Amino acid sequence: MSETIKTDVLIIGAGPVGLFAVFELGLLDIKTHLVDILDKVGGQCAELYPEKPIYDIPGIPYITGHGLTDALMEQIKPFKPEFHLNEMVTKIENVGDPLYHLTTDGGKTFECKVVVIAAGGGSFQPKRPPINGIEPYENKSVHYAVRKMDAFRDKRLLIVGGGDSALDWTLNLQPIAKRLTLVHRRDDFRGAPDSVNKMRALVAAGGMDLKIGQVSELEGADGQLSAVNIKGNDGAPARVEVDAMLPFFGLTMKLGPVANWGLAMDDELIQVDVSTFESNLPGIFAVGDINTYPGKLKLILSGFHEVALMAQKAHHYVHPEKKLVFQYTTSSTSLQKKLGVA
Ligand SMILES: Cc1cc2nc3c(=O)[nH]c(=O)nc-3n(C[C@H](O)[C@H](O)[C@H](O)COP(=O)(O)OP(=O)(O)OC[C@H]3O[C@@H](n4cnc5c(N)ncnc54)[C@H](O)[C@@H]3O)c2cc1C
Repeated sequence: MSETIKTDVLIIGAGPVGLFAVFELGLLDIKTHLVDILDKVGGQCAELYPEKPIYDIPGIPYITGHGLTDALMEQIKPFKPEFHLNEMVTKIENVGDPLYHLTTDGGKTFECKVVVIAAGGGSFQPKRPPINGIEPYENKSVHYAVRKMDAFRDKRLLIVGGGDSALDWTLNLQPIAKRLTLVHRRDDFRGAPDSVNKMRALVAAGGMDLKIGQVSELEGADGQLSAVNIKGNDGAPARVEVDAMLPFFGLTMKLGPVANWGLAMDDELIQVDVSTFESNLPGIFAVGDINTYPGKLKLILSGFHEVALMAQKAHHYVHPEKKLVFQYTTSSTSLQKKLGVA
């Protein structure tokens, strides 16, 4: 396990609300780290609707999910937030008054005075493919994410799927794999055309194999795959010897570990005090889609309002000795200095 990272505030979730929390906390001299399960920032905006237009961000008549994420990243740059992507916060322990110790599934540990849960609809988790007997192999030789590419060096790999993740990992892992086979149920790919062309060129050059069909059976022992049987669309069976299989069948949202953290919840949402967005546990706040209160609307603009109020109370925990003075960014030279514009 690596050394414990100390920070004022740990934000769980780098969706739009978690990102804007960095801004509001940064204005109050509060340092942040963010953890997200995904390999990118932006939460639902980046994962579910990057190209769709959003019409109800105040002052911005039209912006895509991707565009909003980029704009938020630009806006929070002055505060130098540190990101820990591809990591899921699994455990929160209270070790002080308030002082929290957090652990991720990747083995990272954090210590902070304040936790901001901006976990949206919960954790994005991979969809399990409909293959009998896959469970004993999961996280041993069947992987739904690539955390360290080097773990797949010189291995015989089978990637399953036809979207961007399957194609991107095919192109990234092919140079280091001993042999790579891509399996998709039809000879038509949803991924970016450029990636499809690159993959087909590799197949034509003999650098990898492409099989059109579905995985029908796994062979192996003690969680270690040895071969995969594929039922071809033409009816012909094929057997491919493999060391690891990586299925990319998309993501689904589940509440995940948030349910085990001792928080007062209502229908899988965290109850909060609407004047501070603090949960029932002092120093743990919940903002954005993950919280509930009378009249709550799951809108990005609601989350933006919530983080502004949250930051005021968080300041009391992080800088108890300092008096908080309300200031506008338009007129406060001190805030403008923090933003690097004065
Ligand atoms: C198709 C679609 C269209 C939409 N259109 C609009 C619109 O027009 N206007 C609008 O205002 N809203 C819209 N929304 C809703 C909007 O996207 C959400 O309100 C917003 O994304 C909530 O932001 P958030 O930061 O709270 O959560 P999210 O965007 O859900 O981000 C939460 C993040 O937390 C991470 N996470 C969860 N648990 C953990 C954990 N244990 N450890 C680490 N990371 C964790 C997740 O991986 C995720 O990235 C739309 C939603 C959808 C699906």
